[in-house]
Amino acid sequence: MLENKPNKHGPCKDKKCSFCCNPIAINHRAFIALGEDNLPKDKDGNPLFTNKKEFIFSKDNPDTEKFQTFECKNFDKDTGLCKDYENRPDLCRNTSCIDSNQKEKSEDEQHEDFINKFEK
Ligand code: SF4
Ligand code: SF4
Repeated sequence: MLENKPNKHGPCKDKKCSFCCNPIAINHRAFIALGEDNLPKDKDGNPLFTNKKEFIFSKDNPDTEKFQTFECKNFDKDTGLCKDYENRPDLCRNTSCIDSNQKEKSEDEQHEDFINKFEK
C-alpha cells in the first residue's frame, strides 16, 4: 500500500483495519519506477494484484500525491481480512500508517489522519 516505511509494520490486526488492502494504493511514481511485472506474485507465480486502472489522491496534495490502485486476490471482502496474512508480501509488511518515533500524535491519531488523508 502506500508509502513504504521499512521496519514499521502496520498495526492492522490490532486495529481491525484493512484500509490499505481495499484497494491497494501505490504511489504512481513508485509504481512506474517499479514496473507492473515486479509487483508481488502468488505462490504459483501469478500476479497477486490486479490493476484497477484507477487512482486515488491525497486530499491535501492531489497534484503530487497520486496513487495507482489495485485489487488483491488475498483480500477477503466478506471478512475484511487477508487470506494469507502470514505470507503477505514485503510491500504489505512494510506499509504502515504509524511512525513509532512520532511523539506529537498518538498511534490512534496517526491512524485516523492516515485514513482521512485520501479521496477514495
Ligand atoms: S491504515 Fe494502518 S492499520 Fe489500516 S491497513 Fe493501513 S497500515 Fe494497517
Ligand atoms: S496480501 Fe494480504 S495484506 Fe497484502 S494487500 Fe493482499 S490482503 Fe492485504
